[in-house]
Amino acid sequence: MSSPPLLNWIELSRSALERNVKALAKLVRGRLLAPSVKANAYGHGLPQIVSMLTRSKQVDYLSVHSIEEAIVCREHGWSRRLLLLGPVSLAALDLVAERDIEPVVFDTETLNGLGKLSKRTGKTIRAHIKLETGTNRQGITEKELPAFAKIFKKYPLLQPFGASTHFANIEDTTSHEYAQYQLEQFVSLVERLRVLGIGPKVRHTASSAAMILFSKTHFEMVRPGISLYGHWPSKETYVSFHMKGRHNDLFEPALAWKTRVTQLKQIKAGEFIGYGCTYRTSAPTKLAVLPIGYYDGYDRALSNQSYVLIKGKRAPVRGRICMNLMMVDITHIPGVKLHDPVTLIGRDGRERITAEQLAAQAGTINYELLARLSAAIPRLIVR
Ligand SMILES: *Cc1c(COP(=O)(O)O)cnc(C)c1O
Repeated sequence: MSSPPLLNWIELSRSALERNVKALAKLVRGRLLAPSVKANAYGHGLPQIVSMLTRSKQVDYLSVHSIEEAIVCREHGWSRRLLLLGPVSLAALDLVAERDIEPVVFDTETLNGLGKLSKRTGKTIRAHIKLETGTNRQGITEKELPAFAKIFKKYPLLQPFGASTHFANIEDTTSHEYAQYQLEQFVSLVERLRVLGIGPKVRHTASSAAMILFSKTHFEMVRPGISLYGHWPSKETYVSFHMKGRHNDLFEPALAWKTRVTQLKQIKAGEFIGYGCTYRTSAPTKLAVLPIGYYDGYDRALSNQSYVLIKGKRAPVRGRICMNLMMVDITHIPGVKLHDPVTLIGRDGRERITAEQLAAQAGTINYELLARLSAAIPRLIVR
């Protein structure tokens, strides 16, 4: 498996993913685990991640953003529960019943549509009410709750099964007053739901950072995303966890990105490299051309910034990242041959390039860097 006949591929470690699932399950002992596989499973490849999670008994739900992602999960063998976090077009609501999906609901039009659907199909629909606690994104406010309650009362097969919220400010800080405030809002809104006769069975608020740092946010279910794939939500989360005196090696990254040298060339001192002539050699230079560009998700902001690994050594990017190609300096790496493997993310010998490191060099976060890995790159499951 170390040498597939490809020029651009992603390797997914089954053992790393299994280890991360175990670590998450241990953190929330007995709660329902609803990991997020939105954004093509954070760029890892939705079909591959679903096929691996299907084998794990510890995962109860998968959380998706779109109805299309929910269908991909079903088509790749996921028969357990599905939580739909994002919006669904009213014209596509039938799929909720057909595919047995549990939507998070944040408007009365959708809730009404689901009620009618439950009546027409005779199927129970489990809805999750998204509560506004201070993120000001999808939730509904206290004054909208009676209208929701009325719709639930009208349709007996429409169940107020879940209630959820999402924290605005856990991963970006080591001070967590705002999260505490949102948690209090959530508890009080759930109490209102109970008073209105639509109390939820399953409450869920925690993404990775909340789940890792605050057991009070666990309730009956958690929705970790980035940590499933072996990444910390942020340095602040890592530091906060460390300050609580806990150990830091909970997760292991599941993804490695590889390519091959597809051209070698020797150039003289004083020559330019690539578009815009942004790099000029100061000595004779040996270059390797790689068939990777910003189309693949190798951010153009990495031009002249990052490096790749060849034969266990760092090869710095020279010049601009192109659409489909990039150039790296291998002057100091002896014996590089055409089609030798190259590591863009992952380990090679004693060196390692992390998604966090590339994200910092590109001026973004690990989430974005991973989510933007092109879905067209082949994904191979290893070990
Ligand atoms: C993406 C998402 C999550 C997972 O967040 P991570 O920070 O990746 O753990 C949880 N809940 C909701 C509503 C989300 O949109």
